[in-house]
Amino acid sequence: MAIYTSRLLASSVSKLKLWLQSYSFRSSSSSIIPSQFQNVGFIGLGNMGSKMANNLIKAGHNVAVHDINLDVTKMFSDKGISVKRLPIEVAETSDVVITMLPSPSHVLNVYTGPNGLLNGGNSVRPRLFIDSSTIDPQTTRKLSSTVSSCSLTEKKDSWDTPIMLDAPVSGGVVAAENGTLTFMVGGPEEAYNVAKPIFSSMGKNTIYCGGAGAGSAAKICNNLVMGVSMLAVCEAIVLGQSSGVSASNLTKIFNCSSARCWSSDTYNPVPGVMDGVPSSRNYDGGFASALMAKDLNLAFESAKEMGLKIPLTSEALEIFRKLCDEGYKAKDFSCVFRHFYDGKGELQEDHE
Ligand code: NAD
Repeated sequence: MAIYTSRLLASSVSKLKLWLQSYSFRSSSSSIIPSQFQNVGFIGLGNMGSKMANNLIKAGHNVAVHDINLDVTKMFSDKGISVKRLPIEVAETSDVVITMLPSPSHVLNVYTGPNGLLNGGNSVRPRLFIDSSTIDPQTTRKLSSTVSSCSLTEKKDSWDTPIMLDAPVSGGVVAAENGTLTFMVGGPEEAYNVAKPIFSSMGKNTIYCGGAGAGSAAKICNNLVMGVSMLAVCEAIVLGQSSGVSASNLTKIFNCSSARCWSSDTYNPVPGVMDGVPSSRNYDGGFASALMAKDLNLAFESAKEMGLKIPLTSEALEIFRKLCDEGYKAKDFSCVFRHFYDGKGELQEDHE
């Protein structure tokens, strides 16, 4: 069965390649996009997805969107963007569908739930499904095989079955807004190659990681480092402040020393040290503590399954869970500085 599925995929991908070569590419404002990927469906318009969808629109794609939150879809309909009521309606008008949802259960629901993208496992229009949500590799692999077991409604060329790529992102909301995200991609390599122009409309770097689920695995590893290093920066700054060194001086030192990391130089957790980051706006927007806890749990569960010890992850998971239980799950995860470590903002510190 596995051999049959992989042969089917290989044959579909090489046919897609031929099909793509027979089409012209069309220039757009910010990148070159294949004209056959003009119609893009986007599902999940939260902190990240809304900005990614905006960049696809700017790049010249014909975008249709869906989200269960009507406040966010209104922002799109107000701009004249097509808003669909259900995932299946998105699939009906799209060549490629991108999902940017909170967790595995949301992704499964949107793909295979009632009125889901896969229309109950029947024929679908989109040739390509890209899931950019951070979910576990196991769910990704299962979904990828469900996608490739569907058929295509329109056999206008030699493309046999739809294909799914897992393409989670890194960079946070600022990179999502600026179109400078990093995509880590799993799935058939040739499908990745043809999808590159779509990634370029939303990001600066794309890295191919391997077969289905490899992008999800890479993303979980990335976020493990991000969660633990954020805690390390917070702990060090609280200790330094208590010893009489200001947070801005500590940050300057870290950023030109061996402690330099994204949590210190790009996403500093101390209010007043850096503009344009969640800590400078009461930890609103950004990457929710609940999502950080979810990702550390994904890493913890993956490691457990493989019999690996990851003690720093377990400790970090406990801290972020505690933060969520205490009412900060919707706040950006850098609020751990204030609400777990009782860290002080730079302004308060200056006035002391
Ligand atoms: P978010 O919670 O801000 O947005 C998720 C959106 O999905 C919301 O608008 C919600 O209404 C919508 N949604 C939920 N269930 C739905 C359903 N069944 N149908 C349609 N829409 C549904 O989350 P986010 O911060 O944008 O993150 C999205 C994904 O990207 C997560 O997996 C997260 O881990 C990952 N991620 C986030 C960041 C970040 O900095 N925020 C960075 C990298 C990766």
